[in-house]
Amino acid sequence: MRIDKTVQYHAAQRPDSLALVQDDLQLTYGELDQRAIKVANGLSAIGMVKNDRVVIVGENSIEHVVLILAAAKIGAVAVTLNYRLAVPEMRFVLEDAQAKVVLTTDQIFVETVVSASEGLPIQHFSVIDELPDQWLPWTLWWQQQSLDTIEPVSEIDDAFLQLYTSGTTGKPKGVVLSHRNIVDVGMSGIIAAENRPSIGDTELIMAPLFHIGAIAPLFYSLLIAVTVVIHRNFNPLAVVDTIENYRLKSLFMVPAMIQAIISAVPNVRERDYSSLKRINYGASPIGEGLLKDALEIFNCDFQQSYGMTETAGAICQLTVADHKRALNGRLDLLKSCGRPNAASEVKVVDDSGHPLPANELGELMVKSSTVMIGYWNQPEQTAQAINAGWLYTGDIGYYDEEGYVFLKDRKKDMVITGGENVYPNEVERVLLQHPVVSDVAVIGVPDEKYGESLLAFIVPNAEGAPIDELSLIEFCREHLAGYKIPRQYVALDTLPRNPSGKVLKTVLREPYWP
Ligand code: ATP
Ligand code: MG
Repeated sequence: MRIDKTVQYHAAQRPDSLALVQDDLQLTYGELDQRAIKVANGLSAIGMVKNDRVVIVGENSIEHVVLILAAAKIGAVAVTLNYRLAVPEMRFVLEDAQAKVVLTTDQIFVETVVSASEGLPIQHFSVIDELPDQWLPWTLWWQQQSLDTIEPVSEIDDAFLQLYTSGTTGKPKGVVLSHRNIVDVGMSGIIAAENRPSIGDTELIMAPLFHIGAIAPLFYSLLIAVTVVIHRNFNPLAVVDTIENYRLKSLFMVPAMIQAIISAVPNVRERDYSSLKRINYGASPIGEGLLKDALEIFNCDFQQSYGMTETAGAICQLTVADHKRALNGRLDLLKSCGRPNAASEVKVVDDSGHPLPANELGELMVKSSTVMIGYWNQPEQTAQAINAGWLYTGDIGYYDEEGYVFLKDRKKDMVITGGENVYPNEVERVLLQHPVVSDVAVIGVPDEKYGESLLAFIVPNAEGAPIDELSLIEFCREHLAGYKIPRQYVALDTLPRNPSGKVLKTVLREPYWP
């Protein structure tokens, strides 16, 4: 199945069903498909052909969806770009993607885009009023294009979308995803879910559309003719309002968003969540305390997803049934990210790639019809990442006898101190339980005696509060082996995080590693 074909199908079968809602704007499936046809014909007219890249920079918008579908109609590939990138980072991506067309949807990013694309052969469009030299007005332009039928040029295993990884561990990589990847990740999500969404239901997208956590729910919703409400960005209060106003049944949030809603929405416990059947969370680990708070406040079922950009989204789910099992006496299961979904198989391998049995720690590998085509223009990196259909996830973990997967940490974050492997995530979980610690990140720093030793960045509960090293060390000693205890502690006001809420350890490590 091709994604653009399914939207075309809905446009024929149920043209008046609502596809997209953003503020006062509403597009039916019929209107969405027509707009995509016009944009596709326009892109063809300016010379875009199969496999060319078209980039969109801006907060979430209806234009994102239109552009992705339009590109797909002519076999071109949309790239939704992280708008928070600085000029050199954005330039890196524009050059890497060999972007032919860039659509900038917000005034505030224009300056960055102008600087980042200087001298590059790019046709720019924007919806803003005052356009820089040579830029074309988007809306006026597409409205003038033809509605002529477009003969499909793509197959289901052809590129559909290109997303850059979060860059948590290094330079972002262009992940090329096929139609099949996106369809199958949606199907496996639908298969895993209780209270599945269906025609007439509404889905909210407020995570950024340059992240797979937003792309995956967007397209599975469009596959099954669900109405998608788009928020430009994540606004905790607006999320709660939308849950109430649209009587949402389910939504996807990263743990940082759940945390933000709980701490930022006034009277959060008194709002009406009675329509909510299920909250899907994932992309980074969730603390047990936060999960318990969320269960109490939202009073609905929970599901966790574990996946990555390279797998078009979830490969494992800790399902609603798993959560119920956990709360009925198997609390340890809350530390798992679930079992492989219907599209995926998981194995654990040692450093030489040999499969390990249950309960042994190694690198997780996944085989799935959702594994990317590859990294754009990086045949070597792709060959390193995918071996005979199995993708190296870069995550360290194990699975138990029942197949539940437990994540320890990222391979790149592992610290070797005095010959012992330490997974900082384990140390962070302990420190987080200390009463004065509100946030923490642990890294390895050079150490003459041990090769590396551990350093903990601590965000104290009260801003500016002193951190008492001895008390932290004492606390760690109660829960951790000696070699796992950080020797140095540094207080910070906040930790550097990327838009998906992940701590940027590369930034923290930088000053310590020449
Ligand atoms: P980069 O690859 O550029 O370093 P990234 O890996 O953070 O960035 P993403 O593809 O957005 O980019 O994130 C995937 C990673 O997020 C996974 O490999 C895993 O480490 C982490 N992750 C995803 N889901 C979960 C989860 N449910 N629990 C814990 N960690 C998760
Ligand atoms: Mg990654």
